[in-house]
Amino acid sequence: MAPDLTKQVLTSTAETVLARRYYLKDAEGNPTETWETLCRRVAGAVAAVDREPEQVGLLRDSFFNLIYHMDFLPNSPCLMNAGTDLGQLSACFVLPIEDSMDGIFSAIRNGALVHKTGGGTGYSFSRLRSKNASVRSTQGVASGPLSFAAVFDAATETIKQGGKRRGANMGVLRVDHPDIMDFIAAKEDQSRFNNFNFSVAITDAFMQAVEEGDDYELIEPSTREVTAVLSARAVFEKIVDLAWHNGEPGVLFIDAANRANMTPQLGEFEATNPCGEQWLLPYESCNLGSINLANFVRGGEVDYTRLKHVTRIATHFLDNVIDCNRFPIPEIEEMTLKTRKIGLGIMGMHDMLIQLGIPYAGEPGRQLAATVMKFIRNTAEERSMELAADKGPFPAYDPAVNDYPARRNAALTSIQPTGTVSMIADCASGCEPYYSIVMVKHVMDGDRLILVNKYFEQIARAEGFYSEELMSRVADSGTVIGHPEIPEKWQEVFRTAQDISPEDHIRMQGILQQSGVDSSISKTINLPKSATREDVKLSYITGYRLGCKGLTVYRDGSRDSQVLNTKDSA
Ligand code: UDP
Repeated sequence: MAPDLTKQVLTSTAETVLARRYYLKDAEGNPTETWETLCRRVAGAVAAVDREPEQVGLLRDSFFNLIYHMDFLPNSPCLMNAGTDLGQLSACFVLPIEDSMDGIFSAIRNGALVHKTGGGTGYSFSRLRSKNASVRSTQGVASGPLSFAAVFDAATETIKQGGKRRGANMGVLRVDHPDIMDFIAAKEDQSRFNNFNFSVAITDAFMQAVEEGDDYELIEPSTREVTAVLSARAVFEKIVDLAWHNGEPGVLFIDAANRANMTPQLGEFEATNPCGEQWLLPYESCNLGSINLANFVRGGEVDYTRLKHVTRIATHFLDNVIDCNRFPIPEIEEMTLKTRKIGLGIMGMHDMLIQLGIPYAGEPGRQLAATVMKFIRNTAEERSMELAADKGPFPAYDPAVNDYPARRNAALTSIQPTGTVSMIADCASGCEPYYSIVMVKHVMDGDRLILVNKYFEQIARAEGFYSEELMSRVADSGTVIGHPEIPEKWQEVFRTAQDISPEDHIRMQGILQQSGVDSSISKTINLPKSATREDVKLSYITGYRLGCKGLTVYRDGSRDSQVLNTKDSA
């Protein structure tokens, strides 16, 4: 397929973001690229690792068409670094922290090298001995996971990812670690650990103890001794209380994740990447990319033929990224090449539903989202199996242990926040509903500039209910609900994140997870400011029952600034 240069129109936001952070620059800092030349650079570099020259040309053109028209966008490091000397193309890494000075400071060094190239790191602190446990060599006592996490935080603050991205970390502690109570409360003070998202790794045994009102044991990792027995409900209440307070800690359901570990012979999952969508083994990295579902509605239906075509090319693209990637340290290269994980996700899911006139909140929306995600996953798997037949399965694939067909990649799908790439593509991020439909921007002289969602404006004009006055009123009320001029159908279709009930948020995450996501999903369960601790508790329990592998709740207005996975901070 030849390159299709039908002009791609970028929004002014996309142009600004690209010029600031993505286009290569000359010595004076002026961009030397356009969207077209950036896409050529990325497509060329990623196609070049395929074998025959003729194939490379065809592949380069099909990669180019996908990215240029924003049917699919790879994660930011790939757009920024492909075809450059840096050449580090992945967004996600998990690094182990061994329980020794050498182990801890090696992890800090390794993390710094990852951040420098634009990647985010996940760490489990669960192997570190607890605060006040004994240190044999010095006859002293250990400082514990949290005091070391502060050193990781300071190191991240200093690196700042080469000025292009904010350094991002996930810090995980198992619920049965002796320091768990300190960890749960660590981010109550919002000035601390700002380069971390913290999540508690929750086990099935713990959830069962919560359900039954039982106690559970805290276990010192260095000696395996039981150090204390706590009421599971009391600990759960504390997690809920702090998440209600300001959204942290999040929870990760570690046993659900490990049940889906495709290579248990290589180790266990202990942590995810910073936004929680990708479970990885120690030293694994993963490159991500998202299909823009906004581009797949034709004649009032999902265009599955084109979706299949794009998913196949996107799978091939992400698999190639592994081969042209420059890995920050040899251990990461070795592990990543063993499992060849990719994270194919989606964005613009709400755009797709809006174009089809189907509300996000409700069974029809969920069923359609699940069908589409399953279709993407199955197509990606089919393509990965073909690539395995052609180039070999991922090296750790072992038919004696792995009871699934040979494929090229040990993980295929995850749903990312797409914080920045969705701004470039001008669509709703990941699997999230839009956050607002009409926004007011205050410009100079006190003027109000009203920004209206493109679909809403089009429909409102076509159906004759558009007026400046109505748009202004919608902006002020923050919702399309309850304005009599807006037909009820469109009030439902244009419900935003805060208009959707926590249960509808969770059920969407649950059905996507069950139907077509290998790894996990980055999603925020929005709760109104008036939500109670009981609401948060119910959200966690529902998410767990629905098979989610992690949850993040956010109660409106409960934090000074929001986490990474919102557009404002991306
Ligand atoms: N990430 C990061 N720094 C950032 C944003 C993201 O390291 O400032 C990593 C992190 O692992 C996150 C992943 O990139 O989970 C994907 O984030 P997102 O989809 O928002 O990235 P985008 O490609 O849109 O920039």
